[in-house]
Amino acid sequence: MSAPAIIEARNVSKWYGTFHVLKEINLTVHKGERIVICGPSGSGKSTLIRCFNRLEAHQEGEITVNGVALHGKMGNVADVRSNVGMVFQHFNLFPHMTVLMNCMAGPMWVKGVPEREARKTALKFLERVRIPEQANKFPIQLSGGQQQRVAIARSLCMEPAVMLFDEPTSALDPEMVSEVLETMTGLARDGMTMVCVTHEMGFARAVADRVIFMDAGQIVEEGTPDAFFSRPRHDRTKLFLSQIL
Ligand code: ADP
Ligand code: MG
Repeated sequence: MSAPAIIEARNVSKWYGTFHVLKEINLTVHKGERIVICGPSGSGKSTLIRCFNRLEAHQEGEITVNGVALHGKMGNVADVRSNVGMVFQHFNLFPHMTVLMNCMAGPMWVKGVPEREARKTALKFLERVRIPEQANKFPIQLSGGQQQRVAIARSLCMEPAVMLFDEPTSALDPEMVSEVLETMTGLARDGMTMVCVTHEMGFARAVADRVIFMDAGQIVEEGTPDAFFSRPRHDRTKLFLSQIL
């Protein structure tokens, strides 16, 4: 593939104390690529993507995100984070701010965008996730699905080079899962570079360029959705798929 690499991880290892949580991870995410990461609970999926925006630090190997090295002498962590949008399982909205302010805060306070422009951008992305009418409410007044769409809009307002999703639908009531997946599918169609930790295999089939299976801190298998689901090669992958499909 000729598109430039947005995320490049080379031989990345990480320990929590003596526990080896990431073992020699190699992964390149190209511009415009959509990656789905799946695997059993505790396999290191969250830890890996949290290393990509420096919410966690790795100890060995190299990670480069949008041209910024996250190893050796690090520059400004805020610069890294403003390039990398992150959507969490539990939304993590600022509870004391309106939906609109949640979306304006990062651009204004981290990037120094003027208020007028930040408001315009916030409204644009709230339209994009189809909840502009919620702009003046507080997060607690919204449903889980709406809150997660605000979280996506808030990330988009920073105009990130890549979006990371950490099980964005697993805390939602079942009837709200599809509105969030539809929003994510729309982003993918618009060409956003995305790394999604999710067990929504319908989403993976429809959207992913590559599916990656992690187990015990390693990338065990990766492939196109078709190859991954129809012809998994490793026993651990087969076992995992038999449990979730
Ligand atoms: P996953 O997202 O695949 O469920 P995680 O990356 O959250 O896995 O966790 C991988 C392993 O690391 C788990 O065994 C977990 O208990 C452990 N772990 C996660 N965060 C910490 C931490 N801050 N300190 C110590 N161990 C942790
Ligand atoms: Mg996790």
